[in-house]
Amino acid sequence: TIRDLPRYQAMQRELADPRVTSPARAEEIALTGKTVVLIGANVHATEIGTNQVMNDLIHRLATERSAWVDHLLEHAVVLLIPSQNPDGQRMVVEWYRRNLGTPYEGSPLPHLYHKYAGHDNNRDSYMLTLVETRYLNQVLYQEWLPEVYLDTHQMGNRNARIFVPPFKNPPNPNVDPLIWTQVNQLGQAMASKLHEADKPGVIWGELYSGFWQGANNTNPWWHNMVGLLTEVASADLGTPIRQQRVSASRRLRLPRGESLGPRRGLGLPLAPPRDIQARMNYPRPWLGGLWTPADVVEYHALAMDGLLESVANNRTTLKRNFYAMNQRAIERFAGGSPYAFVIPPGPGDPAAAARLVRLLQAEAAEVDVAEAPFVADGTVHPAGSYVVRLAQPFGRWVKDVLEPQRYPDIRWPYPGAPIDKPYDVTAWSLGMLMGVDTVQVERPFEAELRPLDGPAAIPPGQVAGSGDAFVIPHDANRSFTALNRLLAAGASVSWATEELDLGSGRRYGRGAMLVAGAQRAGMVEIAADLRLLGAAADIPDELPRLPIHAPRVALYEPWGGSMDAGWTRLVLDQHEFPYVHARSADLRAGDLYDRFDVVILPEMNSVHLIQGLRAPNVRPEYRDGIGAPGIHNLLRFVEEGGTLITLGNTAAFAIEHLGAPLVNVVRGQSEEAFYCPGSILRLAIDVTHPLGYGMPREADAMFVANGGYRTARTRRNADVRVVARYPDAPLLRSGWLVGEERLRGTGAVMEVSSGKGRIILHTFRVQHRSQTEGTFRLLFNSIFYGPAVSGLDTPFSTLDAH
Ligand SMILES: [Zn+2]
Repeated sequence: TIRDLPRYQAMQRELADPRVTSPARAEEIALTGKTVVLIGANVHATEIGTNQVMNDLIHRLATERSAWVDHLLEHAVVLLIPSQNPDGQRMVVEWYRRNLGTPYEGSPLPHLYHKYAGHDNNRDSYMLTLVETRYLNQVLYQEWLPEVYLDTHQMGNRNARIFVPPFKNPPNPNVDPLIWTQVNQLGQAMASKLHEADKPGVIWGELYSGFWQGANNTNPWWHNMVGLLTEVASADLGTPIRQQRVSASRRLRLPRGESLGPRRGLGLPLAPPRDIQARMNYPRPWLGGLWTPADVVEYHALAMDGLLESVANNRTTLKRNFYAMNQRAIERFAGGSPYAFVIPPGPGDPAAAARLVRLLQAEAAEVDVAEAPFVADGTVHPAGSYVVRLAQPFGRWVKDVLEPQRYPDIRWPYPGAPIDKPYDVTAWSLGMLMGVDTVQVERPFEAELRPLDGPAAIPPGQVAGSGDAFVIPHDANRSFTALNRLLAAGASVSWATEELDLGSGRRYGRGAMLVAGAQRAGMVEIAADLRLLGAAADIPDELPRLPIHAPRVALYEPWGGSMDAGWTRLVLDQHEFPYVHARSADLRAGDLYDRFDVVILPEMNSVHLIQGLRAPNVRPEYRDGIGAPGIHNLLRFVEEGGTLITLGNTAAFAIEHLGAPLVNVVRGQSEEAFYCPGSILRLAIDVTHPLGYGMPREADAMFVANGGYRTARTRRNADVRVVARYPDAPLLRSGWLVGEERLRGTGAVMEVSSGKGRIILHTFRVQHRSQTEGTFRLLFNSIFYGPAVSGLDTPFSTLDAH
């Protein structure tokens, strides 16, 4: 088999494209080929059992001469990724060894186990911002096209011992139902193997749903591949845990929130499991006892055995169905409803459109370019438009990532039941996240189309015209990379506070970046490297402008790690912002304004921010929060001229502890009255305010259980400027929103002036998981704007035409 790998890869490509592979040839492959199954381990670095089991499996497949292994190898190609996050694995091992034999043995890491993403590294499957996800996607969708993918994880350790499929409601409407039956069959093959070995605690049909795209194991569903998940109960990293046993007489289900035993502490056993009611999808509940890393490995090993055995036994069916589903996807969309998506190259940033197309291509979508203008659903689209026709093998995936999501507002298990929370966000429409127009076309149309045979081209950059100064538009994220490079090189940059017309069609909205003191050669190099359309010009001195300086930025990160801080670091690094990483001690130390112009507080709750980590097994050096001294210092920092930026729900800290005169109108609402767990909402932006420069008047905001803000009644005259708000119009663009009317008209991005400085509150997820490229500029603007206006002799409002 190993000698013949290219032949097996070629067979997968044949099955994946029924347009070139006849049914007879597909049947021949189904009868004579091998099922390709890929197993990934340890994407979450603290889930250590999943990659230990890989060593055993590899050794067994390579050395064991048994009928079982021979049968498997005859009918399957087994691909293994022993660690999907090797850096994280190393961090966890070093941390565990450092604490072994101390009171802190098995304690959680004080920082993220991935440079940027931490646990969110399994939330990246449609945006591919992380190199690890890109590698996985390359194996899945470019190199191997396996029929089956299993992602192996560990979960909490209170109740069930292992989750296997089926998944719970709701099913995503774009997944072929044959995927679900195959997922269920292979999930139950894993469950069978565990029950054959007499293992308790096997659960299915709960916990993990069939709707969300973001995880490694879910994204394959829309590619007609059987994506599977196992979750085994964790020990304390490598240290066993003991859990009190439930006695037979106490086998009853306790109401939510009630606990039977003492709370967990050092040396004490865990409280007994609460979920002990046997049911059809959990026939033999776990009742407590000792749980060791060896148990974790054994459960994983048994599940994998069950999967591999079933994959070998069902080789022909799995391969036949992969071909059939690819064929069906083509037939499903050939007649339209919908037929295609059109991605115009403008009027926004053409590079952003190209970047979206590249993401589609990375997951094996086929994209065409229009060679001439064409009409689709009555609309004329220009030459150069990208066209993605859905009648292609993975058309279901393209539809799902480009259309608005409609999360079914059906309460499970019956209409009117309390809200059954979605597993993660309910929206991922890529065009909205990236600020790129995508037009859904319902009816088939004729057009002169050329298939893209390589990555979508990003138009080259240039510096047009001549003059002493240079102009860079404000409406591209890369403009800020250029700005950071220019400031670092000592150039003098300001933002035009009025629109700028340089003639010959070169018009710039407010915020055009005016560069003086730079060499043309340097500007040309930056424009070429960043693909920016700049211009040289003579700028009239009287043009009003806001001088920009290189700000000294501190990004706070709490002990225990913050994924939001991590993703913020990724976004800042991508755009070459200089910043320092501030810990609680840095904010407690005082004189913040002597050291920083901008302090960014990531999304986190106030208790964690102020008190730090309190669990008894946290090492003392990783416990502190900012405390009362940190609050005092932040207040003084703002009074003296500093800019404090809060992200997401950290607005609550600014209101409760720093006196920001705002009220979150949806705070404390019941879920029946207001619920928005992760949706894309319409946002109206004041583009005359420097915080809104370079943004469209209407944008899309990622809202993940965030708030809507009004000025506090008692502080009507407080200096609050609302720069972005939820308009008085339908708000939901993609996902699920209960109680929309409560949010209408409330503020989303506010500037609260205080003393010589300000607090800028981005209350939705402006840089959520590094995915919301369409709103990054709001964050970037705030980093430069605050220090710029704090440094002015006269208040900015005299310059502001607003
Ligand atoms: Zn996990």
